Amino acid sequence: MKNILLLGATGSIGKSVLSVISENKNLFNLMGISFKSNYSKAEEIINNFLPKYVYIDDHDCYVKNATNNGSTFLNGDLRLEQLIKNTEIDIIICATSGFAGLKAASIAVTTGKRILLANKESIVAGGDLIMPLAKKYTSEIIPIDSEHNAIFQCLSGENGTDDVQKVTITASGGPFLNSPISDLKNVTLDQALNHPNWEMGNKVTIDSATLVNKCLELIEAKYLFNLEENIFDLVVHPQSIIHSIVTYKDGSSICQMSSPDMKIPIANGLSDMNRVPISFEQLDFTSLKLTFHEFPNDRKKIQDIAREVCNKGSNLGAVFNAANEIAVESFIKGQINFDKIYDVIYRTFDESNVSNELSLETINDIDRHTRIEAKKVVKSIS
Ligand code: NDP
Ligand code: MG
Repeated sequence: MKNILLLGATGSIGKSVLSVISENKNLFNLMGISFKSNYSKAEEIINNFLPKYVYIDDHDCYVKNATNNGSTFLNGDLRLEQLIKNTEIDIIICATSGFAGLKAASIAVTTGKRILLANKESIVAGGDLIMPLAKKYTSEIIPIDSEHNAIFQCLSGENGTDDVQKVTITASGGPFLNSPISDLKNVTLDQALNHPNWEMGNKVTIDSATLVNKCLELIEAKYLFNLEENIFDLVVHPQSIIHSIVTYKDGSSICQMSSPDMKIPIANGLSDMNRVPISFEQLDFTSLKLTFHEFPNDRKKIQDIAREVCNKGSNLGAVFNAANEIAVESFIKGQINFDKIYDVIYRTFDESNVSNELSLETINDIDRHTRIEAKKVVKSIS
């Protein structure tokens, strides 16, 4: 039996994790959860799974809802750290959304435990800090972002990455697959949130619609697999069936296929390579039509920025991430049009000036500073 700490339990990834756990109660025990403030959702989880520990990030929500019934309720940085380091916990699942996940991820990598990572923003913003720590403390990071879990599966059983010639990361293309940016000025929030293949939280759904998600995933992949940026290709694959492809130097390309369902990479991450049974939609191979297209030309500039982040590393990822988080938040709040998300990122990134000092404090400072700068850009164009 493995004891699990699920960070971001009330979110979309959290829901998929809980479903995999429910189907495998003989293997996994939900020992702890964390969330920000959605207590009504958390209460359902607490009643169903009876986790021993419940961490609430929002202090007011904690004060209002903490009880002495069954679970131990926790709040504050010190309690979060103690929870992550608690030796009763075997597996930590990082499924918080956004930069907020970096704090927990940076502690998790010092525990020597198995970490299932969904929170890509923590790697994009803090990859140069997190990956060396994971190595130092022999913490195992298993990606559960679907493309990265696909790459992880395609690499398993091979001689590391020495024989890899190319890694192709697929993108669904989102709801605006066939539209140039110039046609997207007046799209509504509902249209942008209407993803054709995946049901996800709002932030990552908007990232998919802009294709910035794929740029974040390029940086995420570079860190997770320790490969050069130019090994990675981004292609559009509207059906979201092939989640990534690894091409080896002998000409073989290995891919991972499944219906678009996050329970599948999560089950793989939890499995320790002993396949865990879950219910899933079977692919009907006789009716599949799989197509691939080049990454759209008018998203080349954003891809180039992501490639620059991969090559320069250090704190540049924190700038890219924070600029994007503010741009997306501003679009969701109705402060800017959809097409301006790119402008906010470009302009904030162009004006950035970052130090190479690597610590959680520096990354937090850069994140804070970049958010202020990005908000100025939003103000100037809204
Ligand atoms: P959601 O918005 O659905 O859920 C986010 C979760 O994080 C919630 O539990 C939320 O709590 C919690 N949270 C937010 N802020 C904080 C905070 N400051 N402290 C503690 N907890 C916090 O996001 P998703 O599940 O869609 O995505 C989670 C991560 O996984 C993201 O990084 C995303 O990019 C990545 N990912 C998601 C995929 C998907 O299919 N959804 C696919 C691949 C990657 P509360 O509900 O209380 O606000
Ligand atoms: Mg993904």
